[in-house]
Formats: sequence, C-alpha cells, structure tokens
Amino acid sequence: MASATRLCLVILLFLIAIDTAIRGPSWARYCAGPIFLLWSFMFYISKIVHRKSRTVIRPDIFHEFVLMERMKVNYNTAIYRFALPHENDILGVPIGQHLSIAVEIGGKIALKSYTPISSDDSHGYFDLLIKNYPQGTVSSFIGGLEVGQTACFRGPSGAMIYRKGLSKTIGMIAGGTGITPMLSIITAVLKDPSDSTNIRLIFANRNQSDILLQDRLDDFAAKHSNKFKVHYILSNADEGWRGSRGHVTASLIRDQFPLPTKDVKILLCGPPGMVSDMKKILVDLGYCTSSGRSKPQDTVFAF
Ligand SMILES: Cc1cc2nc3c(=O)[nH]c(=O)nc-3n(C[C@H](O)[C@H](O)[C@H](O)COP(=O)(O)OP(=O)(O)OC[C@H]3O[C@@H](n4cnc5c(N)ncnc54)[C@H](O)[C@@H]3O)c2cc1C
Repeated sequence: MASATRLCLVILLFLIAIDTAIRGPSWARYCAGPIFLLWSFMFYISKIVHRKSRTVIRPDIFHEFVLMERMKVNYNTAIYRFALPHENDILGVPIGQHLSIAVEIGGKIALKSYTPISSDDSHGYFDLLIKNYPQGTVSSFIGGLEVGQTACFRGPSGAMIYRKGLSKTIGMIAGGTGITPMLSIITAVLKDPSDSTNIRLIFANRNQSDILLQDRLDDFAAKHSNKFKVHYILSNADEGWRGSRGHVTASLIRDQFPLPTKDVKILLCGPPGMVSDMKKILVDLGYCTSSGRSKPQDTVFAF
C-alpha cells in the first residue's frame, strides 16, 4: 500500500508537470488541491494498514477490552477471548506472568489474577481460561459477560517469566485452573524446536469432567513425546478411570519426576491447600523449597 501511494503520487506529479507544460499553470492550480487530498487520504490508509504491532497492556492503568467470543470448555469453565483495540496489537504479558481483572462491587474494587493461555503470537486478541465460581466475585462477573461487553484489565505481574534455558527439566504439579501458567510454558517450549526443555506434568482434579483442555494436553504429549509427558490424577474417579486416584503423594512425584538435581525445577499452581501440601512433600523428597513468596531462581516455584 505504501509503495502504491508513492507510485500514485509520482504518476500524478508527472501528469501535472506534462499538463502544465502543455496548457500553462492554471490547470495545475485547480488540480493541486484534490491531488494533495487524494495523496493524504492514501497515505493515511497505508499508515493504518501497516501499523506496527504494539503491546497494549500496562501495569499502571486499567484497560477496557471487549469480550469477542466465549468457548465453553466444560460445565463451569470457558475460554474467554477478548479483543485488543487494533487487529495488529499484542497483549504484552510475558510467558509465566499474569494479568488482573478489576470488578467494582458496592464501591469497592475486587482484583483477581488470570494467566493468559494465548501468547504474544496472537494478534488482536487474547484468551483466558476461567472457572466460574457461582459465589465468586470476579469469576461470576466474567461468567455473566455477554459478547460485546467489556471488562477492566491491568498487568502484567508475577515473579516468573519463562525463558529458554530456565532448567533442563521442569516438573509441574497443577490443580484445576492452576493449569493455565503451565499451559503457557508448555506451549512456548513445544513450539520452539531449539528449546530442549523436558517437561513432566502431574495434573490433579476432582472428576474426569474437571480436567481442563485434556485434548490439547494429550495432543501435545502424542506429538512431542520426547519433550512432554502428562499424568492425570483424580480424587473422585469413576470405575473405568485408568490414571491415578486420590491425592498427589510422594511416591507419585518420585515415579513421575527426575531426582532432585540442579537441572530440575518444580512449578506449582493450584488451590492454596494443595500447594502447601506439595511443598512439604517436595522438601521430604529432597527438593529445596524456600518459605514466603517464590522467587524465579527457587528450585520449587509456586505461582
Ligand atoms: C497467579 C494466579 C493466576 C490465576 N490464574 C487463573 C486462571 O487462569 N483462571 C482461573 O479461573 N483462575 C485463576 N486464578 C484464580 C483467580 O485469581 C480467582 O482466585 C478465582 O477466579 C476466584 O475469584 P472470585 O473473585 O471469583 O472468587 P472469590 O470471591 O475470591 O471467592 C468466592 C468463592 O470461591 C471459592 N474460591 C475462590 N478461588 C478458589 C480457588 N482457586 N479454588 C477453589 N475455590 C475457590 C472461595 O472459597 C469462595 O467460596 C489465578 C490465581 C492466581 C493467584
């Protein structure tokens, strides 16, 4: 478009020059205005079409984004696709970090964290996987949004930013929607052929219908068996269930993860009770955990 604009301008100037030479300068005076307007219009259009990608979200201000699509995942969870202001825009949340949604209720602002499951490869939109708690302040607000309505966001935040080489092996333990930061890291590792990180995921849920995005995870495991393995465990399994049953135990972690060495990092995300139980078990197994808020350099990092 930009080169077409330039070509158009050159042709028009050439025609004016020829015409001026033949008919004298008065015709040129009449043409100059419309030609300039036409050129300005085309220049403006080309700027819009060729607008560079820009990251949109900032931690210091709230942004309103429009819900453009809701994709049901199971009985209480959906993927919510929000539109960015322009189709070339990217969200700007690094892999591993999250954003916050703000909802005003009774004059007070409730702020909750959500990890995008899309990456900055997606232009013009981003996806959140959100479980709707009927009594939940923010999740029920999002669950009640109609396509075309808006929500308020800010970010990014969070201590962990995934980069290639973080660790040779990553063991992940996720519970329920705790899968979201894991999914964004798994996707980043698997789509990069130069990233040889080995990932072992233990995904804990109550019922089989609670396992979020199982098809996607199984597909990753089938296509990238050299890099990624997933193991499911249910606390309330049906008779035919072929994965593990009960809660995540030391023996399950020992079976699924490599022994603790400097090349192994463990990531945890799930309900607070599960995360603190896992930390205790991991200490017993010899993985170093630190108290308080996790730091990216910790062997065991809880989101
Ligand atoms: C770093 C981070 C990333 C997160 N990413 C996601 C994500 O991608 N998708 C997502 O759905 N959630 C995610 N969460 C959880 C999310 O931030 C909210 O805590 C959740 O949506 C509930 O908020 P609420 O305002 O709806 O519920 P609240 O008003 O806080 O709670 C209402 C009811 O819901 C119950 N409840 C709240 N949270 C949980 C929970 N996690 N497990 C079990 N019961 C709960 C409470 O016990 C209470 O009964 C993330 C949390 C963190 C810290």
